[in-house]
Amino acid sequence: MLQHFWTEEEKLLIELVERIGKEYVEPYARQWDEEEVYDPRPLKALARADLMGLVIPKEYGGLGWGVKALCLAVEHLSKYCAGVATTYAATFLGAYPIILFGSPEQKARYLPEIAKGRLCAFALTEPQAGSDAAAIQTRAQKEGDYYILNGIKQWITNGGIADYYVIIALTDPKKGARGASAFVVERGDPGLAVGKKEKKMGLRASVTTELFFTNCRIPRERLLGREGLGFILAMKTLDYARVGAGAQAVGLAQGAMEVALRHARHRIQFGQPIYHFQAVSHTFAEMAMRIEAARALVYQCAQALDKAPKESAGPSAMAKAFATDVAMWVTERAVQMMGGYGYMRDFPAEKMMRDAKCLQIYEGTNEIQRNVIARELLKYYR
Ligand SMILES: Cc1cc2nc3c(=O)[nH]c(=O)nc-3n(C[C@H](O)[C@H](O)[C@H](O)COP(=O)(O)OP(=O)(O)OC[C@H]3O[C@@H](n4cnc5c(N)ncnc54)[C@H](O)[C@@H]3O)c2cc1C
Repeated sequence: MLQHFWTEEEKLLIELVERIGKEYVEPYARQWDEEEVYDPRPLKALARADLMGLVIPKEYGGLGWGVKALCLAVEHLSKYCAGVATTYAATFLGAYPIILFGSPEQKARYLPEIAKGRLCAFALTEPQAGSDAAAIQTRAQKEGDYYILNGIKQWITNGGIADYYVIIALTDPKKGARGASAFVVERGDPGLAVGKKEKKMGLRASVTTELFFTNCRIPRERLLGREGLGFILAMKTLDYARVGAGAQAVGLAQGAMEVALRHARHRIQFGQPIYHFQAVSHTFAEMAMRIEAARALVYQCAQALDKAPKESAGPSAMAKAFATDVAMWVTERAVQMMGGYGYMRDFPAEKMMRDAKCLQIYEGTNEIQRNVIARELLKYYR
């Protein structure tokens, strides 16, 4: 309803993603959710359209666009299936540390391959270290020209289907968070094993697994940045990823509103479409307002990341928490506006509601986002 002033290039990008969403995602999303399977076809279609290289710099085979473009792609994919969008977005969660902190050699080795369609993952969480990420225990011990990794990572998106894993591990446990470092581990490295695939409430088209490191030996050239930079790298990466989660939420909420609106205009009760009952139409008015507010915040923040990435922690946290709370509210209301049809698995609204829940949890829970915003506020007004 609100006019968006995208550039001609951005409009073409949206059109392209919409086409991929309609052809490769929409017809199958329900089946993938039911069967809880990852299907590589949409990701291959995105790779053929060069969209796996969207934010990869041109000199490494990508399109060299920024966070705003990535948000547009993630938003429009999420309208059709937030699970597929999770697989796509998580690849950039793994790629951003290389883009931001990789050496020229590391960039030359990995980025062109990612642009061609190889998937990535980012592994910070461990069984005893979720919100308290500084409590990680995975160790990386230096031995000559190698690092030896030991530990367990939990709930890793793209586990087993990714070719490259960015792992946060302790090189100096005495220093706590300042003793953490980041490494690239490749699929097939000896000592890396992928655990069971988690059974999830939503985002079931995306794969989530454990990763086990048992004397996993990797060359020292796999260290990203320098020793001790692991947490700074992780937090910076999450600043980029969180705005993407916000974009995912906007697309999901938009999709849910459109599904419910179609229903409300055609469902006749008491002799008229239910949309004409004010309780129903006002709910849609509220959905539209909240979605546009979330969209405005997400793209304002994405543009800020493209132009002034240093000040990104607070804005990214705002975009993530606000938009994902909106998605949870809108999808729940979409189910309600559809009544029993909303609750049935033959209709897409209930899947959207299950998918939305995870957005409030991963990439830092919305409580943690509020902690970040509160901390940044104090800094800003010191
Ligand atoms: C589907 C899925 C995919 C994921 N993918 C990845 C991935 O690819 N890579 C990765 O590293 N991780 C991933 N995660 C992990 C995710 O980032 C964590 O689940 C998340 O950070 C929360 O950690 P936790 O689940 O251990 O919850 P906990 O930290 O145990 O939190 C439980 C509750 O306590 C609250 N809480 C905790 N501490 C505070 C505090 N200080 N102030 C206020 N409230 C607090 C939380 O907000 C939450 O409500 C994934 C998770 C899921 C569910």
